[in-house]
Amino acid sequence: MSDFKENILVTGGAGYIGSHVVRDLGNEGFFPVTYDNLSTGNRKSVLCGDFVEGDIADSKLLEEVIEKYGIKSVIHFAASIVVEESVKKPLKYYENNSVKTFKLIKTCVEKGIENFVFSSTAAVYGIPEKIPVNEESPLVPINPYGKSKLFTEMVLKDVSAATPNFNYIALRYFNVAGSDPQVRIGQNYQKPTHLITLALRAALGDYPQLKIFGTDYDTPDGTAIRDYIHTDDLSNAHLLALNYLKIEKKSAVLNCGYGQGSSVLQVVDTIKKVTGIDFKTEKTARRGGDPPALIADSRLIKGILGWEPRFNDLDYIIKTAYQWEKKLKEKKIER
Ligand code: UDP
Repeated sequence: MSDFKENILVTGGAGYIGSHVVRDLGNEGFFPVTYDNLSTGNRKSVLCGDFVEGDIADSKLLEEVIEKYGIKSVIHFAASIVVEESVKKPLKYYENNSVKTFKLIKTCVEKGIENFVFSSTAAVYGIPEKIPVNEESPLVPINPYGKSKLFTEMVLKDVSAATPNFNYIALRYFNVAGSDPQVRIGQNYQKPTHLITLALRAALGDYPQLKIFGTDYDTPDGTAIRDYIHTDDLSNAHLLALNYLKIEKKSAVLNCGYGQGSSVLQVVDTIKKVTGIDFKTEKTARRGGDPPALIADSRLIKGILGWEPRFNDLDYIIKTAYQWEKKLKEKKIER
């Protein structure tokens, strides 16, 4: 297969975050095998390794791939991720994120996978009682997306307890943004819902204005606060998680955020500053299911994995996201 250090199966490796991790696995001498059904991913985003088009629920194909590449470690991204859509289409979320992931985990255990890194989310906390939120906080997700991810965390916990050689790390992502500084890969959802992407598209003239969802939150400027983390720091957390699993052979659940937040208005101001473009905003009602503030307590990931943020800078996050959005627009890549 290859002379590389180890073949790593990456489900959803053609997606936004998965493609950054595939890039970094390649840079670190691993051989990533991207397994993706291309429902939202893009084949061209897979910068290195091999690509297999397949669904995580296709146990037969998955077994063949695991055997062919001698896979011992899996990084699992493939999922549906839009909170609002999950409220409207809960079955899609329970099917993709819970039922299919359950099948994937079953296949992994049956095939002797030892290390499993899972993309979880801060949405498992719902509306946290205390900010910053730590991993011991109550798990009360308020939308099907968060619930579907929490279900998988619960499955992983029980399965790892019952399976001596199977360990996992669940990374609870906060608000991921930005992209590859070389502008090769980035977020390319057909219907973006995330603040930074929508605001940049408003700046680039794709939309007449940006809607600000809620200005009556109990926050300093009345708009909601989030912990925005650059893709490359998040990607690095996956590589550290993989190495930890291989060396320590222990499971963990870890927040992945910077531990500081920016409000919607702060993001808007920063986008105007970084792009030099003024664009219209419209104050509207709160969006359903949005907590007022979500900020990570990131002490655990720093302590356990030795993870240290390198791009904790909203200007930089927005700059890389802006470069990517400009490239999408200039190249007329379908968005
Ligand atoms: N938001 C907004 N206008 C938009 C999109 C998002 O005001 O067009 C707000 C949203 O209500 C939330 C924050 O920006 O308070 C971050 O939302 P996003 O969808 O980026 O991430 P989420 O925190 O929902 O995962």
